[in-house]
Amino acid sequence: MNRLEERILRDGVVKEGNVLKVGGFLNHVIDVDLMDWMGQEFKRRFEGLQVDKILTIESSGIAIATMAGHYFHVPVLYAKKNPRIVTMDDDKYVADAFSFTHKVTNHVIVTKSYLQPGEKVLVIDDFLANGAALTALSSIIEQAGAELVGVGIAVEKGMQGAGDRFRANGMRIESLALIDEMDAETNTIKFR
Ligand code: 5GP
Repeated sequence: MNRLEERILRDGVVKEGNVLKVGGFLNHVIDVDLMDWMGQEFKRRFEGLQVDKILTIESSGIAIATMAGHYFHVPVLYAKKNPRIVTMDDDKYVADAFSFTHKVTNHVIVTKSYLQPGEKVLVIDDFLANGAALTALSSIIEQAGAELVGVGIAVEKGMQGAGDRFRANGMRIESLALIDEMDAETNTIKFR
């Protein structure tokens, strides 16, 4: 078991509706040493892969992506999220994503000049659940004419199936903790 899996078992709380609360170390309190380990671990797992830029989505992805950017020595670009209608601006890429946790559709927005055609992009995010955030980020990469070379996820909820669907389509996804089962009543979690 790795450091993130151990921490999830120790401090993660399983809620009804397939939600894992990790606020004590990942997305409310930030355990910097754990983040640092995650950054190094992504670097190790994607060793040899050419990465020009890391792309994540606000807000919880930013800390993890920043640590990864530190080890890859590349800039970190984060997509902004806005649930309100955004004016279709010529200088922005926009894709929609339904939020699993907040049950609203967010517009996911990146300024065009920050993502260049041909750039090799590694996507980093905190959770992979139904895959809406990842679908939106890959749409933005495609709109930019950039290339998605890999995806690094802190916690993948494998039972929601999105990760396996993306992998079947040839996407390279590395998840540091891949959960196959969790139960809110007993607060038990099983990793793959
Ligand atoms: P997806 O778009 O893959 O359905 O969900 C990804 C986003 O939803 C993540 O960026 C994360 O912010 C949030 N999310 C999904 N499932 C969970 C969960 O079980 N716990 C927490 N804390 N966030 C989640």
